[in-house]
Amino acid sequence: MASVRIGFGYDVHRLVEGRELWLGGIKIDSPRGLLGHSDADVLIHALCDALLGAANCRDIGFHFPDTDLKYKGADSKLLLAEVVRIITARGYRVGNVDITVCAEAPKLNSHIPSMVDCLAKIINIGADNISIKATTTEKLGFVGREEGIATYAVALIEKI
Ligand code: MG
Repeated sequence: MASVRIGFGYDVHRLVEGRELWLGGIKIDSPRGLLGHSDADVLIHALCDALLGAANCRDIGFHFPDTDLKYKGADSKLLLAEVVRIITARGYRVGNVDITVCAEAPKLNSHIPSMVDCLAKIINIGADNISIKATTTEKLGFVGREEGIATYAVALIEKI
């Protein structure tokens, strides 16, 4: 395989009452949270798919099926750690990642430094290699109606 490879990931989770909101590995104060089999950390899920895609190692659902009770309520940080292990086993390290979270509410900008620190520790790369951006969708579509949160991620991996 090539010495440098790129991957792309996308994920969506529904916003509902009665769930905690976990994004980028941290808990965010919010009246509603994301629904999912795991903790539904949509940011980490998109990042995992970008990393797996870069290494051509299928997707997050392949490695952590939502039919498996082992992953019910799972901390997505543990899934990301496992994805990093899979990539390392293939002889790659993470170069840099760039992530865009699409959410109408809550406002995420003040939480981004904490997310970056959290992800940098798990991936074991410098914080300057992790970019997280937040945007609304101008009240358009399911994100704009606050029915859910979407995340896009790209990742570069390099042959060790
Ligand atoms: Mg997901």
